[in-house]
Amino acid sequence: MDLLKDIKNHSLIIANNQDKLEMLNYFSNNSVFLNLDFFESFNTYSKFNINYTFYLKEKFNIEPYLSDRLRKYFDYIDINKIYDLDKLNLLKNVKKQLVNDLIMKEKKRDYHTLYSVNDSYVPEFLSGEIIDISTKNISNKPVCLYKAKNQKNQIYFVYEKIVELLEKGVSINKIKVLNSSENDDIGLIKLLKDANIPYNLSKRKSLTEYPLMIKLITTLRNDGYLACKKMLEEVKINDITKKIFRVFNSFDSKLIIKNIDVFIHELKKLSIVDLGFKNAITITNFNDVVFNDEEYYILMNYYEEYFPKKYLDNDYLSNNEAKKISYPSSFTLNRHLRASVSSRLNRIDNLILVYPNKVIEEVIPSRITLNREVKEEFYEYFVKEETYLDDFIYLDFAKKRYDFDNYNIISPDLIRLNNVFLNKHKLYIPYFSGITKDTLDVLVNKHNTLSAYKLETFNLCPFKYYLSFLLKLDNFSGNIFTYIGNVIHKALEMKTKEGDYDLDFILDSYDFPEEESYKFLIFKEIITENVNMIEQIVSEFENSSLFKKVYSEHKINIDFDETFTLSGVIDKIMIDKENGYYLIIDYKYGDENYSPNDIDKDYDLQLPFYLMAYQKEEPELKPAGILYQQTSLLKETRGKINNYKMKGLIIDLVSVIERFDPSVTRIQGVSINKDGSLPKRSNSFISPMDLDKLIVKTEERVRDIAKKISLGDFKIMPILTDKNQTTNDSISCQYCPFHTICYSKNKHLGGE
Ligand code: SF4
Repeated sequence: MDLLKDIKNHSLIIANNQDKLEMLNYFSNNSVFLNLDFFESFNTYSKFNINYTFYLKEKFNIEPYLSDRLRKYFDYIDINKIYDLDKLNLLKNVKKQLVNDLIMKEKKRDYHTLYSVNDSYVPEFLSGEIIDISTKNISNKPVCLYKAKNQKNQIYFVYEKIVELLEKGVSINKIKVLNSSENDDIGLIKLLKDANIPYNLSKRKSLTEYPLMIKLITTLRNDGYLACKKMLEEVKINDITKKIFRVFNSFDSKLIIKNIDVFIHELKKLSIVDLGFKNAITITNFNDVVFNDEEYYILMNYYEEYFPKKYLDNDYLSNNEAKKISYPSSFTLNRHLRASVSSRLNRIDNLILVYPNKVIEEVIPSRITLNREVKEEFYEYFVKEETYLDDFIYLDFAKKRYDFDNYNIISPDLIRLNNVFLNKHKLYIPYFSGITKDTLDVLVNKHNTLSAYKLETFNLCPFKYYLSFLLKLDNFSGNIFTYIGNVIHKALEMKTKEGDYDLDFILDSYDFPEEESYKFLIFKEIITENVNMIEQIVSEFENSSLFKKVYSEHKINIDFDETFTLSGVIDKIMIDKENGYYLIIDYKYGDENYSPNDIDKDYDLQLPFYLMAYQKEEPELKPAGILYQQTSLLKETRGKINNYKMKGLIIDLVSVIERFDPSVTRIQGVSINKDGSLPKRSNSFISPMDLDKLIVKTEERVRDIAKKISLGDFKIMPILTDKNQTTNDSISCQYCPFHTICYSKNKHLGGE
């Protein structure tokens, strides 16, 4: 700073804002009294009246955005000169008017001495002897330049560097993070918050993002100035409203009313800085800092495309036009910008530079000339054994430990984490625990029926059950197949109960999905063909069977325990009263089977559930079997009797089979050998004892689920052992509408 002691009185100092503040501090601290003018390169030199944008709009119909872009050229335009380019003559005429009407006021341009501070650019319209001065010597401390593995690692680097400096005893308000992007801020703030390190995000924020400003602009546009002013009179006074009032009071109301868009443009220029804590890390912009020897600066994103921000060749005047008035080209501007940035960086004592190695592609570090030793290092984040990020690291460990315990997934840092945290390990259990006992009781008592479908859903994923049947979030609308199923079921029910049916009436009784209505005629034809065929097959079978008593659409409504009721509808029950047997049949639109392999599947419960429920209703009767009957076939297979065979399990007693199906042709896999025995290899037989066991097992399953529901045990727990081979989705998740809100572990299988 001693370099400043020779500054001559009545000079012009060309310096940026930080250097100007530093100089003024120096002068006041050293009792130096000088009469100096200051100018910041690339700002406008002349003085403009506040009504500048309004004036250009009214007088020349120039939109305010363009007015702002033109302002910087007027310093370079000579109103006495004739230009050979139209744009320049236009600017000359505008400037003449601006000067005449006192909207623009030119200032003194001839000085004895012009001081260019720290490589500041000296515009050509200024005259005088130019002297270069530096506010400070180049630091002799080396600069550390870190290449972080990627953008995320860059954030970790900054966080760890802050912790390192704090641990070394650097005062918290002496650490400044510069040149971070918005995404960097989000990541860094998260880490600082987790570690309880106070911070100030000291960046200008446009007020256009604030709800009050949005409302204000909308009111101005739609209802005009007076309505807007009335609205403002009713809002609470705070820093934001004070700024807004200032803009309102700066302009004449008649001017505003005539030029609402220009006024909105002026309002949109307002911004605010949140000053926050006194003792805190500061995150701010490079250009907003007054550098200080005692402070530590961590400058992020130190790579060519990002720092410093460049001037581009897309201004109002082309480079050729700008050259005619000696306005600097973008090349010149960037050269000076680099020089000025380099000058500032070279003078910072405690400087740490960092950039991400990869943004989209690999980047190259900024080509700023650093006239001091630069130490380059690579940085990659590793989980540390000691950290301030307790919550974060525990959670990370707990998740990894859970993945290992449950799915044997070993993450690379699991062993290290295990060594550090095993003793403090808190179990990570992905239980859903967001429901209170009272709410649970209300919901369960309100929705206390247990059907086969609900039980299957619970076993596929308890969380899905909770959302679908307690919170009722699953609002499925019917589709064509539900429609077909309903029509065929009804036709078969009427045929069994009343001996006939009116298909047209039934077709009209159900709602065909509206969005598919153009397909109705085609489906009507298919349904009619299928109904005619299946009705004939079912009638023939019922007539031939010695299980003479047939119940169609039998409703289940049985109290199960203190809370739950079993509910559902069994399509058909056929009873042999003479021998005390019954058989359950479920109509299926598609091809379904139930084999001994399915007995262990918790999510294939429909037939066992009906069996268990009916056995409770009719304990005197004995079960003979559980079967599916396919009701609809494709054109190619329709009408071929073999394709309509029932599928499922029937007890392995010939005497029962012969009474149920005297022709022994109606059940897939069921035949009788010539010696009267049953084939050994068929999957369609079950012993009466095993069928009884299935009833007991099913009841246990239902009790278990009922208990879990009552306790609110709604784990997010899809079945991970069974998946769709094509999509890799768990069978629980493949059609689940809740996959976006459940943190599904389905992805462990490779599914979405
Ligand atoms: S997507 Fe999977 S894990 Fe999520 S609620 Fe549905 S079934 Fe459960």
